[in-house]
Amino acid sequence: VFVSFEGGDGVGKSTQVSLLGHHLASLGHEVVVTREPGGTPLGLELRRAILHGEDLDPRTEALLYAADRAHHVASLVRPALARGAVVLTDRYLDSSVAYQGTGRGLGAAEVERLSLWAVQGLLPHVTVLLDLDPAVGLARLTGDPDRLESAGDEFHRRTRQAFLERAAADPGRWLVVDASQPAEVVAAQVRERLAPLLRP
Ligand code: C5P
Repeated sequence: VFVSFEGGDGVGKSTQVSLLGHHLASLGHEVVVTREPGGTPLGLELRRAILHGEDLDPRTEALLYAADRAHHVASLVRPALARGAVVLTDRYLDSSVAYQGTGRGLGAAEVERLSLWAVQGLLPHVTVLLDLDPAVGLARLTGDPDRLESAGDEFHRRTRQAFLERAAADPGRWLVVDASQPAEVVAAQVRERLAPLLRP
């Protein structure tokens, strides 16, 4: 089973991935927790180049995310799914559609095509959208902002809207959760959605 977590910065994706991972491991599942960009050694180099390297034009950025994702899926995600593991990823291709497609203005349909090509069509069984006002999410973050975190309010509002519209268009894959709720409440809603997929 393949599950992705999406949403803006500071919505609590890594907390939820970790809570769900521990829960599923306690039920006896093999759980692989990973993220994009940066789920592999090559991915970590790409992550540094994308977020902390020289200035990139939007197409270069989109191609680097696609390269990270192609390698991540081929070398880590598909082998794990083939063994029967549950794979939980903090961000997947819907991030590219929202950030590079809508946020950076490359076009959602084009970035979706590029992303699906990169992963040979692999989509998650469930995508959890942790939805939160970007002002609240960004205020939760600590430390030095990376390039995207310091993008303007308008950019973050556009990407939030893009995630919500994608989720509304495919309710069979997406679960939208109000991420302003306490982490335990969010985690319970996620577990409930996944339970039917994860019966031993
Ligand atoms: O979620 P994480 O902190 O790993 O993301 C790093 C940064 O990259 C965030 O600011 C996020 O908004 C941005 N990002 C992006 N496009 C993607 C994935 C992440 O702009 N496809």
